[in-house]
Amino acid sequence: MRTNIPVYVVLLLFVSTALGTYWNPSFEKYDHNCNQLAHQGVALSFDDSKNLNGWNDTRSYFTQNNITATFFIDHWGHHTNEQSNIIKGLHDDGHEIGFHGSNHKKYADYLRNNETAMSYYEHEILSGTQLMEEAGYESESFAYPMGSRDVVIDALVLQNYSVLRGIRWNAHGSNSWSTFCEDGGVFRALSLALLDSEPDVIYDELHQLSGEERTLLLYGHSIGDEPGELDLNEFQNIVDIMGESNIPWLKMSELGHE
Ligand SMILES: [Zn+2]
Repeated sequence: MRTNIPVYVVLLLFVSTALGTYWNPSFEKYDHNCNQLAHQGVALSFDDSKNLNGWNDTRSYFTQNNITATFFIDHWGHHTNEQSNIIKGLHDDGHEIGFHGSNHKKYADYLRNNETAMSYYEHEILSGTQLMEEAGYESESFAYPMGSRDVVIDALVLQNYSVLRGIRWNAHGSNSWSTFCEDGGVFRALSLALLDSEPDVIYDELHQLSGEERTLLLYGHSIGDEPGELDLNEFQNIVDIMGESNIPWLKMSELGHE
């Protein structure tokens, strides 16, 4: 027997696939009820302890431009004195120090090696969190190494941190990088590497922030002149757009709060 799939079903599948691919976060505004509405602002964060030296060189730039960021640090308990001093300097400048895993291990690798979310939580979250606290820092914010996460590990980590950050790809159970709602405390973020490839993605999001109670999350890694590093001349375009529209910088820990 021959099965005929109606044309409209095929069209519907095609349209929903296309929408999924080119899905625009601004549709989220009308999608669901929200208990914790977003505030207008850009939550800027930078990842990885290995980038501390480059960050240190930009401290005065951030201060002069009144930029507040969150720096996600891994390998607590293993920093050199110089690295520890840079972390303290960033904190003293008013930036947030966040947690980025004990050993910068990818959650998906744990699962692939027949480990569990609980073992990841114990080894990559709890032990490093304790070392961070011993170093004198308490944080409400955590960024997943390589953005690798799911709702199972989210539920465990949310016992210790109120704001979790993933990356652009991996939507399951998280708020968009450009969000009107901050329920749940789990967010995706847009990479500043887009400034090299598709800068308009970031600029368009920034222009849409004007007059909207919406939060945009941006993240980067190293800052400097080398290929692959965030070029401050390019970043200045973001600073200028925000200045023109009076958009504030937000610390990650400010997300999901009244
Ligand atoms: Zn990282």
